[in-house]
Amino acid sequence: MQYIVCEKPMKFELKEKEIPSPAKDEALLAIKRIGICGTDLHAFKGEQPFFSYPRILGHELAAEVLSVNDETSNLVKGDRVVVQPYINCGKCDACLAGKPNCCQNIRVFGVHTDGGMQEVISFPSRLLLKANDLSLDEIAVVEPLAIGAHAIRRAGMKAGETVVVMGCGPIGIGIIQLCKYLGATVIAVDINERRLEVVQKHFGADHVVDAMKEPKEQILSITDGHLAQSVFDATGSKKAIESGTDYMKHGGNYVLVGLFKGDLTFTHPAIHAKETTLMCSRNATLEDFEFVMKVLREGKFNLSAYVTSQVAFKKILTDFKDWASVTSGEIKVMTVLD
Ligand SMILES: [Zn+2]
Ligand SMILES: [Zn+2]
Repeated sequence: MQYIVCEKPMKFELKEKEIPSPAKDEALLAIKRIGICGTDLHAFKGEQPFFSYPRILGHELAAEVLSVNDETSNLVKGDRVVVQPYINCGKCDACLAGKPNCCQNIRVFGVHTDGGMQEVISFPSRLLLKANDLSLDEIAVVEPLAIGAHAIRRAGMKAGETVVVMGCGPIGIGIIQLCKYLGATVIAVDINERRLEVVQKHFGADHVVDAMKEPKEQILSITDGHLAQSVFDATGSKKAIESGTDYMKHGGNYVLVGLFKGDLTFTHPAIHAKETTLMCSRNATLEDFEFVMKVLREGKFNLSAYVTSQVAFKKILTDFKDWASVTSGEIKVMTVLD
């Protein structure tokens, strides 16, 4: 079988190895789709500070079951499955509290361990979700959308509320469309006009705000001075994150989904006056995966606008640099294995 490994920053290699045999409680999977994510692009460019190489990337996967080495599993050969790539320990306080998404010993498949850019993998069957009624592309986007679903659930968002979503990349788009599904009014903020057009045209954003053009004044005007009940950051940019509470009403929630790898500064009286609930949102749980699968089954996610390119597996070797460029215009590049 073939696999593609990131040997060091800016260098992929195609290699061969034996097909693995599934360990106990694991299933052998044929990988059918690999969605390319910002994490993969940063790892390739060498921008993930604690990343170690060589590493097989890929965690947004659609797979087909080849065999199962787990008597308790309901999976059978030929099933299509969603892969929850967050391998948790099941023993730490977070796991015991029902928060495996922030397990203290978490190993994210394709980030902390070798991932899915392989023809065949062996994977814990307890983290696979049967999805024979979804297309392979739908299956592969469940994970990035579940990240947004988790953030929305963290915010306790209710129908009729107004939210601000900062950042209109693949994660922000998921938050926008799932907030719309749940009945919110969505104001999308970005510095990229093309992305703002895309979220308004294809993903249901009610209002778009150019972050370079006095965004607070625009949001005050859109909301008749009320501002947003919840603000989501999906930029990971220090400047954006530090401005987010300006768009939030008194008593609101501020949810950090994007990650900025450094210190953040907030003016305490400003966030105190609003009794800001500041929270981080990490990964996603089973509940979020199942919610996204329900939305996809109902056809309520604009998949065709989200998956902007479908490419053959080996294109990773030659074209990855282009996907990694900011000007690429891609939302989600989907790698296809036959
Ligand atoms: Zn991802
Ligand atoms: Zn744990």
